[in-house]
Amino acid sequence: MAKYGFLGLGIMGSAMAANLIRAGFEVVVWNRTSSKCTPLVALGARQGQSPRQVAASCDITFAMVADPAASSHLCFGADGVLAGIGEGRGYVDMSTVDDGTSRRIMEAVTQRGGRFLEAPVSGTKKPAEDGTLIILTAGDQSLYEASSEAFDIMGKRHFYFGEVGQAARMKLVVNMIMGSMMAAFSEGMALGRKGGLDGRQILEVLDAGALANPVFRGKGPMLLQGEFPTSFPLKHMQKDLRLAVGLGEDLEQPTACTAAVNEIFKRARAEGYAEEDFSAVFKTIE
Ligand code: NAP
Repeated sequence: MAKYGFLGLGIMGSAMAANLIRAGFEVVVWNRTSSKCTPLVALGARQGQSPRQVAASCDITFAMVADPAASSHLCFGADGVLAGIGEGRGYVDMSTVDDGTSRRIMEAVTQRGGRFLEAPVSGTKKPAEDGTLIILTAGDQSLYEASSEAFDIMGKRHFYFGEVGQAARMKLVVNMIMGSMMAAFSEGMALGRKGGLDGRQILEVLDAGALANPVFRGKGPMLLQGEFPTSFPLKHMQKDLRLAVGLGEDLEQPTACTAAVNEIFKRARAEGYAEEDFSAVFKTIE
């Protein structure tokens, strides 16, 4: 049975690692704030000393950290993954980053003799807990195949897009659409309520027609109650919008809508909603 490493035990990583442990795999966990390892150790994981030590001692090491800076630090920093990887060992970075960051990590890992796969996910806290994520991968195909058993535990579907960078791009496409949807939804709700409409009825009408979708259905009641318990932190959505706008720059593809929505999310961060759910952008819009 493969021995897995798991680096980064935030909202997503802790749930994903827990599923691997519950499935009976030997898992070594590490997190920058080490106290977050405790519940996973209670489930049966071993606690690693550093990303280097985890990558050196496991067949495949998964990572799920905040953003490009965190992914880079995890790989290239002191006692990082790069210092431990080699001899065909696998490194699967599941964080949402830009394609350039992912390629830099891939080049460094493969130069050391390691194998690299990028594997960002679609789906939030609950799908991570339920093992129903959609896993978007690109990179070393043998590592994709070797990781499939773990992907089947963490997710309900996994896709392979070929060269490193393509899965990162796919993930940004998904989130630029979701961020824009949430901004449009919030504006509609705010305008409708200001115009004297009942919020519950707006939700009911939306859900009855062509705009029915799980995001509006899930987040709508949160907007009405004014409470935004965090599944997907607003700061990470803003990061994804920023990265999507950057990808548009690189490819000379206009992303006017995403750029405007990014500005709204930047304002929401500045207003203090960074750690709340991304649906808290409603407070800024309203
Ligand atoms: P989170 O709860 O904010 O956790 C972030 C993790 O990154 C923590 O383990 C944190 O460590 C670690 N980290 C941050 N900076 C670091 C650094 N410089 N070096 C090492 N570790 C660092 O985030 P999350 O919601 O789990 O999201 C993780 C990734 O998945 C992000 O890229 C996000 O965009 C993506 N994602 C999230 C969701 C979602 O719904 N939440 C869905 C799909 C994709 P500490 O504990 O020490 O702070």
